[in-house]
Amino acid sequence: MKIILLGPPGAGKGTIADKLKQEYGIPQISTGDLFRAAIANETELGKQVKSILDRGELVPDELTIALVQERLKESDTKAGFILDGFPRTIPQAEALQTFETLDMVIDFRVRDGIIIDRLTGRRVCSQCGKVYHIKNMPPKQEGICDICGGSLYTRSDDNPESIQQRLKTYREKTEPLIAFYSKLGLLKALDGEGSVEVVWERFKKLIK
Ligand code: AMP
Repeated sequence: MKIILLGPPGAGKGTIADKLKQEYGIPQISTGDLFRAAIANETELGKQVKSILDRGELVPDELTIALVQERLKESDTKAGFILDGFPRTIPQAEALQTFETLDMVIDFRVRDGIIIDRLTGRRVCSQCGKVYHIKNMPPKQEGICDICGGSLYTRSDDNPESIQQRLKTYREKTEPLIAFYSKLGLLKALDGEGSVEVVWERFKKLIK
C-alpha cells in the first residue's frame, strides 16, 4: 500500500500513521520527523532548516523532494509506505508523480479550534517519539513516556504564533492538493475529529 496522509497540522496524521505502520508493517515517512532528526543531530540539513521549522514555514521544495526521493529508494519501502506530511505543495505533488505510483490519499478533516487544542496540548517523547496530549491522551506519570520512560517535551513549533503560521501555510500551500488528488481519483475524505480509537476505526473502513 502506497498511501499519503494529507491534512492540517494536528489532524492526527502521525498518530494514525503509527497504527497503520504496526498493522501493515510498512514504514511511515514523516518529513517533519526527518527534519527534526537532522536538527537534533546538527547536520548541514538541520542547520539549514531549523529556523524555518521554528517559524512554521515550509522548507524549500527542492530540498524536501530530494530528501523524500532518497528515502523512498531504501529497500523497506518496496511493499509500500505511508507519507505523513509530504507532499505539502503542488510542485512536491507533481514531483512525486514522476517517481511513484500511489494507491490513495486520505484527507483528514478537522476544524481549526480542535487543531489548536490538540497542538497546544501535544507532548512528544524525546526518546521514542510517541505522541501524548495533556488532556486527551495523558501519560500515566506526568512528563514521562509510558513506553520507554523517556522525558516528554513540547515541540518548539507548537506555540501559538507558529501554530497560526502553520495553519495559514496549510490553507495557502497544501489545501490545493485536495483538488489535485481528487482529479486523479485518489482522494478519500476522513472525519478526523473524535478520539484516536474512533478515528482509527473510521480510517480502517475507509481504506478497505
Ligand atoms: P510536521 O511534523 O509534519 O508538522 O512538520 C514540521 C515542519 O517541518 C513543518 O512546519 C515544515 O516547516 C517542515 N516540513 C515538514 N514537511 C514538509 C514538506 N513536505 N515541505 C516543506 N516543509 C515541510
